[in-house]
Amino acid sequence: MAGKVGIAIALGALLLALPVPPPAAGQGRLRDGVQFPAESFDFATWDPVLKRSPDRGWRRWGTPETVDRVQLVLREYRDDHPDGARVLVGDLSRPQGGYFGARYGGLGHASHQAGLDVDVYYPRRDGLERAAFRPSQVDRRLAQELVDRFVESGAIRVFVGPDLRLRGPRRIVTPLIYHDDHLHVRYGPPPD
Ligand SMILES: [Zn+2]
Repeated sequence: MAGKVGIAIALGALLLALPVPPPAAGQGRLRDGVQFPAESFDFATWDPVLKRSPDRGWRRWGTPETVDRVQLVLREYRDDHPDGARVLVGDLSRPQGGYFGARYGGLGHASHQAGLDVDVYYPRRDGLERAAFRPSQVDRRLAQELVDRFVESGAIRVFVGPDLRLRGPRRIVTPLIYHDDHLHVRYGPPPD
């Protein structure tokens, strides 16, 4: 048993160390993407697989509009909470977009393929700059405020944890399993 686990860990480490293969044909692509910064005065980034800050650089690419909008939301949030913890931003997309599934660690992402999706971790009640690992650790008031701000910023979808009772316009804010530690924001495609 321990041997199998050891082999699985070794394989996982090997996969993480391999260069990132190009996206398969027919999946979402990201052209002219920009990298989301590792951190700023307003936010830090979080690697959901290695469970540490910052998130690895190849996991945080988005369209320029997505990257700008998220930073603007977090700057405004920070202005109103200057003494609170910085918000943690998780995965966006790979540098050229495409498949970002379980092969890249953790549960993987069904979407996150075109630089239009971003994960944002809920603020914690204890103010630590880490992802919450239980819904009870989430500051629901601040989490709701983030949901509201992302809806206001033009998100077409915000997935939220079923246990957190976060609210918003029904066509946009949708409870989804595995979102009790982060919200998932999706923006619409940029105009041609
Ligand atoms: Zn997501």
